[in-house]
Amino acid sequence: MPSNLALNTLKTTNHTANKTKWTVAKSTELYGLNRWGEKYFSINSKGNIDIRITEKQNQYLDLFELVKELEGRNLKLPLLIRLDDILEDRLKELHKTFEKAIKNYNYKGIYQGVYPIKCNQQRHVVEELITCGQEWNFGLEAGSKTELLIALSLIEDPKALLICNGYKDQKYIETTILARQLGRQPVVVIEQVDEVERIITSSKKLGAAPLIGIRAKLSSRSSGRWGNSVGEKSKFGLSIPEILEAVEKLRAADLLKELKLLHFHVGSQINDIGILKDSLQEAGQIYVELHALGAPMSHLDVGGGLGIDYDGSRTATIASTNYSLQNYANDVVATIQECCEAKNISMPTLISESGRAIASHFSILIFNILGQSAIPSDFPMAKENECQVIKNLRATLKDIQKISKTPLIDISKLQESWNDALKFKEDALAAFRLGYLNLTERGIAEQLTLACAESLIERLPNNRLIPEELKTLKATLARTYYANMSVFRSAPDTWAIEQLFPIMPIHRLDEKPNYLGNFADLTCDSDGKLSKFIDHGKTKPLLELHELKDNEAYLIGMFLGGAYQEVMGNLHNLFGSTNAAHIRLTKDGGYTVEHVVKGNTKSDVLKAMEHDPELLLERVRIASELAIQKGELKISDAQRLLEHLETSLRESTYLQE
Ligand SMILES: *Cc1c(COP(=O)(O)O)cnc(C)c1O
Repeated sequence: MPSNLALNTLKTTNHTANKTKWTVAKSTELYGLNRWGEKYFSINSKGNIDIRITEKQNQYLDLFELVKELEGRNLKLPLLIRLDDILEDRLKELHKTFEKAIKNYNYKGIYQGVYPIKCNQQRHVVEELITCGQEWNFGLEAGSKTELLIALSLIEDPKALLICNGYKDQKYIETTILARQLGRQPVVVIEQVDEVERIITSSKKLGAAPLIGIRAKLSSRSSGRWGNSVGEKSKFGLSIPEILEAVEKLRAADLLKELKLLHFHVGSQINDIGILKDSLQEAGQIYVELHALGAPMSHLDVGGGLGIDYDGSRTATIASTNYSLQNYANDVVATIQECCEAKNISMPTLISESGRAIASHFSILIFNILGQSAIPSDFPMAKENECQVIKNLRATLKDIQKISKTPLIDISKLQESWNDALKFKEDALAAFRLGYLNLTERGIAEQLTLACAESLIERLPNNRLIPEELKTLKATLARTYYANMSVFRSAPDTWAIEQLFPIMPIHRLDEKPNYLGNFADLTCDSDGKLSKFIDHGKTKPLLELHELKDNEAYLIGMFLGGAYQEVMGNLHNLFGSTNAAHIRLTKDGGYTVEHVVKGNTKSDVLKAMEHDPELLLERVRIASELAIQKGELKISDAQRLLEHLETSLRESTYLQE
């Protein structure tokens, strides 16, 4: 990026001046860290993000320094940092919250959760949750035969539940019956009408029955993104007539005695607690009615949907929720209690299948910035017979530079100058289209317009109302930051469903971020970008970012992405999985790297697409032999080419410094 020495010095002085005024508290507010970071994230006096795990012990871990040290262990960026302590803490919080609600309402029953494997199937994650969840007999939810295999092999606790959802064929059902004999507690949740017949056949065949649940299709609708997965048109669950039919069929087959659980699932990320309340009331009544029909009901499973406040605005908007964990637990406990008390039946064990709420916080994606797009600021000096529009722009810039920087500045004057600059820029474009301006002149015109914007920004007072037009000044100077990552691999929901995650620099937070920018990823896809950021219940297209420094990495963190992103990610442009490190804090204030999961190499992703890396290399070798024979390529260069390709195959799919 060409740059002019004089201008550069000017910026550095500016930047030091800003540094004295800027505080980490301002960064905390700007990026909303105090709102979405829960108790886990804060900014330390060095301007780096701190991770805090145990509130009592005041143990902190400097995220920036951690990344530096991991890089020292050859764990190159982009890097997923998984904080197992946070995963554990979220699980504890969930249980503590339900325990509190149960105690407060004097609910005569317990809460016994399960983890929906689909949320993050990584072995270390599932294992960690099982180990840590033992004290509450925490179980698993499987949505497919493959997940069932994971659940069966990992759960050893005979009291832990294994909720079996998803499409079920004969073998799936038989497996659950056999697993019950193995001493596990699998519950086959009937989601489709024809599964009833399959349960009856399997039970006859094996001379034993599974534990049975029924998923109800509730009529209460969700307003959220997954609104279609509930209500009468949803893909899963039984309508009321179907439930009644299933009950009679089970009764006839002498299996009604195994129907113990009612299940519903409103959809992921419920934004509005009102929707949950309606669903709970409806489900509570169905539960009571099933009991009246003679089923020995004992469990009520409220499914997933417990949301995460991604932007910390505590609103019923897409990236937020208008309720807390405690509100959620209270509503579940109180509503079900009310339904059961009214009919004088015993209270069910309450189950939730909370995936997002458990797994979001523990994982942070760190990526580095490879460079930025910026229009070079060194434009040529004025020449004698320059065209009029350029002269006009130069004069405007000079006028702006003459305005002295004072808090009492006449804002209307700034606005007038900006209007002039924009008008002259339009003129320049028109002149170019008509052939009166050449490419060099158009370039100068654009540079001058930006120089005007920069000079104006320097003069905007901080403490006064700024007119709308002048607020767009910074956006005019917005930059694209090139991110060493693939959105499709590491943040697919940002692209697929416009999910928002908090994104911010993990260091330099004691410096004022002087630029607005967005991120372009490594893929060649124009959708490969991050250009929507959290903004107090709304979104903004540009994020406040810092000027890149020579020879110093600029590291960005994407937070709250522990749920769904990794598994939904794909190999677009053949960017593979990133490196991942599982970190655990030690008592003495340090940390250990518990596991390292190496990201895909280029060879891995080629094989995933059925290419044979050896064969690919061999073809290039043959081509280079031909070129050597024709005298077009030197032997040493051919060797270099092959060496590059060979090493590259063993390396990560991302760019390395
Ligand atoms: C996806 C899913 C979940 C998990 O939902 P979260 O919103 O992540 O808690 C739970 N139960 C069922 C049936 C699901 O399909």
